[in-house]
Amino acid sequence: MELDEVVITRAIIERYMDKLLSHVETDVAVVGGGPSGLIAGYELAKAGKKVALFERKLSIGGGVWGGGMMFNEIVVQDAARPVLEELGIRHRRVQDHYLVCDAVETASTLTSRAVQAGLAVFNCVTVEDVLMREDRILGLVLNWAPVDMAGLHIDPLTMRSRYVIDATGHATEVCRVVQEKVPGGLRTPSGRIDGEKSMWSDRAESLTLENTREVFPGLVVAGMAANAAFGGPRMGPIFGGMLLSGVKAARWILDRLAEEPADTPS
Ligand SMILES: Cc1cc2nc3c(=O)[nH]c(=O)nc-3n(C[C@H](O)[C@H](O)[C@H](O)COP(=O)(O)OP(=O)(O)OC[C@H]3O[C@@H](n4cnc5c(N)ncnc54)[C@H](O)[C@@H]3O)c2cc1C
Repeated sequence: MELDEVVITRAIIERYMDKLLSHVETDVAVVGGGPSGLIAGYELAKAGKKVALFERKLSIGGGVWGGGMMFNEIVVQDAARPVLEELGIRHRRVQDHYLVCDAVETASTLTSRAVQAGLAVFNCVTVEDVLMREDRILGLVLNWAPVDMAGLHIDPLTMRSRYVIDATGHATEVCRVVQEKVPGGLRTPSGRIDGEKSMWSDRAESLTLENTREVFPGLVVAGMAANAAFGGPRMGPIFGGMLLSGVKAARWILDRLAEEPADTPS
């Protein structure tokens, strides 16, 4: 049978539109497709929640691919071993408490397991603003990343979500938007993004987990964004904290969703 270009085109457009339309209202919207956002998306989707992840770049995986200084191996501490084992990411032990994983296997397995669990990923989409009413985040304002990169004068579109996770890494972009709209309104010590401190791996890993919390009503920070928002130190290329932070963000939201009456789709 001869392949028909228009059938191919129609299949892509119809399938994408179905996916997009069924995620303009979600339980959770994740901003950023790094390790913390992906694992949060995986946990939420696995629990049966409707969850969409928006990533500005073409590729998903954030800072995992390059390991440390482009040596594409990553280190994960023992505490996060259950996450690696659940996802099926192979690892090798170094000394008592360190595990080393192939960065490419980690990024691709995280992505594939999350999507197979039901996470809808929209790459090449930038989150440029939030939907906010009565001091609560209600969703996101989206545009195509190339529109943003080209500086085109094109209005964005919007999606609604019961919770948003800021997993945008060092940039802490969703918190940055909120801080502009509600000066002093973030639940950090200064009411603003406190900013990342110099490298201290041990302290940073525990603080990343501690700082994974609701930073504004409806907005939870995870991963490096949690560190940056609350002024934790950076930690270098160790990724256990990123994974555990995403899991914590997801479980915290699952608990809140279980307490609240559902008026959006699950
Ligand atoms: C310059 C640089 C310095 C680093 N320094 C450290 C360090 O000190 N310590 C450390 O542990 N790791 C560092 N890393 C590695 C890496 O960032 C993190 O360890 C890890 O990947 C963070 O995971 P994450 O899930 O928090 O976010 P990331 O892996 O950073 O993923 C965030 C994702 O969010 C996307 N994003 C951001 N804003 C938006 C938006 N508005 N809309 C849509 N998508 C968006 C980004 O494109 C990115 O893919 C560094 C990386 C870079 C690039």
